[in-house]
Amino acid sequence: MSDRITRLTRGMRKRCARCGERDVWASFFELEERCPRCGYLFVREDGYWVGAMTVIIVLTELVFGAVFVGGMLLTWPDVPWTGLLIAGLVLNAVVPVVFYPWSKTTWIGLDLFFSPPTAVEEAESIAASQPPDGS
Ligand SMILES: [Zn+2]
Repeated sequence: MSDRITRLTRGMRKRCARCGERDVWASFFELEERCPRCGYLFVREDGYWVGAMTVIIVLTELVFGAVFVGGMLLTWPDVPWTGLLIAGLVLNAVVPVVFYPWSKTTWIGLDLFFSPPTAVEEAESIAASQPPDGS
């Protein structure tokens, strides 16, 4: 169980969920195909990133809901509806972009929490992390 929690928390810190490597990003929006340290293949199946989309949608709506309801409660009865509308629109546009990388590694961590790497995935990761023969 602690391995699963470790994988989840590594993912939530934008690291490789399998080994904890930080440098898994080719650019801000592009995750490497495999972890450069442990060789783990990040995409486990077709449509894999639907889970990351779900993570970012849930996060965005939680932030939006907290700001909207918090704003209402703090300013009641003179709620600044226009300000809350603008803040909501901005949050719904900005949060998914800013937290995009986080959503992917968090999804990988969640996925590995519920479905740990199989023996085949472990063997492929080890093989991919070895230097090529003859070098
Ligand atoms: Zn790794």
